[in-house]
Amino acid sequence: MTDEILDYHYSGKTGQVERLKDRVLASGDPREMFLYLFYVDNEEVDLMGKAILDTGNFVYIHYLLRSFRVTNYKDFIQKILCSDSPKYLFNILYDVDYLDKQSRLEIIQRIIELNDDSYITKAAYYYFVVLDLFDEGLSLFTKNFLRANFSIEVDNSNYKGALDKVFYRDDYKKDPDGFSMNCFEGRNGYIPSLIVCHINNSYSSAIKRFYDTKSGVSSHYVIRRDGHVKQVVGLDDSAWANGTSLDPLKDYYNRFATSEIARTINDNANYFSFSIEHESFDGNLTDEQLNATVMVMREIIAYLKDKYNYDFQIDRKHIIGHNEVNPVIRKKCPGEGFPFDKIIRRLKHQ
Ligand SMILES: [Zn+2]
Repeated sequence: MTDEILDYHYSGKTGQVERLKDRVLASGDPREMFLYLFYVDNEEVDLMGKAILDTGNFVYIHYLLRSFRVTNYKDFIQKILCSDSPKYLFNILYDVDYLDKQSRLEIIQRIIELNDDSYITKAAYYYFVVLDLFDEGLSLFTKNFLRANFSIEVDNSNYKGALDKVFYRDDYKKDPDGFSMNCFEGRNGYIPSLIVCHINNSYSSAIKRFYDTKSGVSSHYVIRRDGHVKQVVGLDDSAWANGTSLDPLKDYYNRFATSEIARTINDNANYFSFSIEHESFDGNLTDEQLNATVMVMREIIAYLKDKYNYDFQIDRKHIIGHNEVNPVIRKKCPGEGFPFDKIIRRLKHQ
């Protein structure tokens, strides 16, 4: 039914939509229900949402909550709290921006119960530093946690700084030498015409994953929040950052792309794109990072001219977000704060 749903979306036709809705509901398939909401009619969020919740499918519950404002999301939270995965719980906390304080604290409490130090640190960092929220009980817990695990003496005045230090503690180690093995050799015959922007919470965890041959992911560049740039994959080769598939059953199906270029070239988008990761939680970049991004993009544009005599067009059709290639799975990458307009202005006028 995926192609049928997309046909509705792209043709703009409204006839028979009730029948399609009934069939999607009758299928009992949380994926079809989610896609219906995403591409056909997002007014049905409460109806489809309830049906997706009833299937108990954690993946599509996550996609649903981060893509739509769900009125009765508290019912969803109760289901989510049954999860044993700190990663899943953190992703809900991070991706769903309309949760109230109590729901956030319940999720963090569950992460604490699961006893995974790195996710406890990440959740506390996100709550106190990124969201800049406060809670007496959680701050007491956090101070004890930092003392016990990292022998850091903390009080009310410095625990945010301490969290920052602990969260980014690996970030200033030496970069790995050379390029990562995680890439396709060459461009499969394409002249790459897209620059795709991403965010990643932490530079060091991105670098670690991109050099781990088991992870299956990489990016051409990673830019740390202090502006430091590491190139991970050579520009002649295809990084593994924004892959698409021609298989409608994959959640990274190329027809899902809102980018016309990614959707209409019938191949894996990694072949015809460059990818840049930025260390950020919400897409906002530091001044140093913004400067580095503009510099890296200039390098890419010069490379295209030099290697292919290709004039890269500096606009939002060609400089895009990961969410425009993989909207279903990467709705929040690179985040609402990402400064596309600023970058484009700088590239054009300097
Ligand atoms: Zn991304």
